[in-house]
This record gives sequence, structure tokens and C-alpha cells, in this order.
Amino acid sequence: MHPFTYTRVSDTREAVDAGRHGGRYIAGGTTLVDLMRETVERPDALVDITGLPLREVTVTERGGLRIGALVTMSGAAAHPKVRALYPVVAEALELSASAQLRNMATIGGNIMQRTRCTYFRDVSAPCNKREPGSGCAALHGYNRSHAILGTSDHCAATHPSDVAVAFAALEARVHLLGPDGERRVPFADFLLRPGTTPSREQALRQGELITAVETAAFPRPLKSGYLKVRDRQSYEFALTSAAVAMHVRGGVIREAKVAAGGVGTVPWRLPAVEQHLIGERPSTSLWAAAAARATDHARPLRHNRFKVELLRRTVERQLRIVGGTK
Ligand code: SF4
Repeated sequence: MHPFTYTRVSDTREAVDAGRHGGRYIAGGTTLVDLMRETVERPDALVDITGLPLREVTVTERGGLRIGALVTMSGAAAHPKVRALYPVVAEALELSASAQLRNMATIGGNIMQRTRCTYFRDVSAPCNKREPGSGCAALHGYNRSHAILGTSDHCAATHPSDVAVAFAALEARVHLLGPDGERRVPFADFLLRPGTTPSREQALRQGELITAVETAAFPRPLKSGYLKVRDRQSYEFALTSAAVAMHVRGGVIREAKVAAGGVGTVPWRLPAVEQHLIGERPSTSLWAAAAARATDHARPLRHNRFKVELLRRTVERQLRIVGGTK
């Protein structure tokens, strides 16, 4: 393993100062330590942020859900307000990883986690994300688990997080603290598509620290949920997934938020599906017609063509689960 220094910090300013000088933040360590062991990541300095006061879950005055960056996945999933008001977040967390990992991994670390593309983790394979300019072994290799949306000629790796899909649907903002102060970045702008620079994955500036993630506020009642389709029922990443939130009043869909996972290089919002739903009455035929729009811009690879139909079916099924079939 590459040698590194290790520092514990106890306040956010101290953390940002260490980050500004090149330190890598570490909290649960459930991704970073693995990658360091495999020499995929070789940081010179680790900054342990587990002592920072970023462990609160609150509902804002407007009704948005704010989760501190160091809240564990299991802590967020079990929180009564998350379960009552945003079940899509709780379900996405509970369907992720294993119980042991959920007890260690944090919300901030979860959205920062790196891809599970096997070539990325194999240091003998060409990979533009790990080593810019080296090529992409997946594009002409075995790409069953790869993305069908948001890919480029340089990378087609999926973003592995489940809860990030829920955050994308709920129009979350990422709260950041950096050398120049605080800022909030819409989730859709925070995680970056690969384009020509797949090694750049987040819109973070040097030294910036995630302090919280906050969802938008929605009219109530808001029904929501997360469906994950995978090769086995536990401890497995999504082949496809769908996060759906819906507000129905007077028998008409007034708000619909839909995002997909397992298919995009970033959590994939589905505005065409949402537009198809707004102003309509819930029905089985509506769910099917809306879900047909989920794959509008899909560009499958050799081994993942099955994801096109699977995504439509996943979205249709989750619309039916959340919206009912009247
Ligand atoms: Fe690397 Fe992306 Fe290609 Fe995987 S898909 S080998 S992460 S460049």
C-alpha cells in the first residue's frame, strides 16, 4: 500500500484547511480503504472527519429533509422522520450494501463512492477513470453491468449509489463548505457525467467538504418508494432501479419525481416520464405509457441491451406500486 499520513480533525474549518492542502477526507472508509489496498487510490494524506458534528437529521421549516454528511446509512434509514416523510430514502438505503457496511458508511461517503466497474478496480486494465488517457477496457470488453444512459466514448461506468437515485428524484442539494465558504449545489450538477474527463466525478473544489444533503420540499401527501432489480436479493448493486415520489390531489397527479439507477453514468432523472404523468389520473395504462419514455436516449452496449426493457418494466412497476392502479 502507498504510504500516507493520517490526521484526525475535530472542527470543520480544520478539516477544510487540511483538505485545501491535499488531504483526502475519510469517514466510514468502506470504499476508500478497499481502493487503497488495491492501489487504485493512492492518497498521500488522509484526514479523518468522523469527529465532526455532522450527524443530524432534520426536517426544514419548508418540509425538506436534511441529512448530515456523517449520518450513517443505517442511522438515516432508521430515522422516524425519514421513514414517515421520505420512505424512498429509507428504502434506497436499506436495499444497499450489507448491514455491516450500512452501520459504518456515511451519507456523504455514499454519494462520493466510486464505480464498481471491474476494469476500474483492476490496475492492469486500461481505464480512463483511474488513469486518464489509458483507454476504456469496458467499451469493447464485458459490459453487462454498465450504463446505457449518459455514456461517452471514454467511459460507460454506472454510479453505484442507491440513495443518490432517491436524492436525484427529490431534487436534493449538496451542502458544501470550502476555503471560500459555504455553497449549495443541486444534485443534478454535483455528480458529473464522464464526457472526455471520466476521472472528474464531482463538482467539488479543492478542500471542499460535504456537510449535508437536503431534499426539496414537496406538497403533502407525498407517496414515495424505491425499487431495485439485481441478480441476487442481497448485497448486490442494481441492474436497474427506480425512485418515485408522487403527489396526487383530487384524483389527479400534481407532482411526479422519477429517477433511475443502475443505468446511468450518474443517477438518472427521467423528466419525460414525469411530464407524461402530470395532470393525469392514475391508471395502469398511464404507468405503461409513461414508463415507455424512460429509455428515450438509451445507448446500450454489446452485453447490456437487456437493460432497456428491464428499465421500462422497473419504472412501470414502481409507478404502479407508488401510484396505485385505479
Ligand atoms: Fe474505466 Fe469507465 Fe471504462 Fe470502466 S467504463 S474501464 S471505469 S473508463
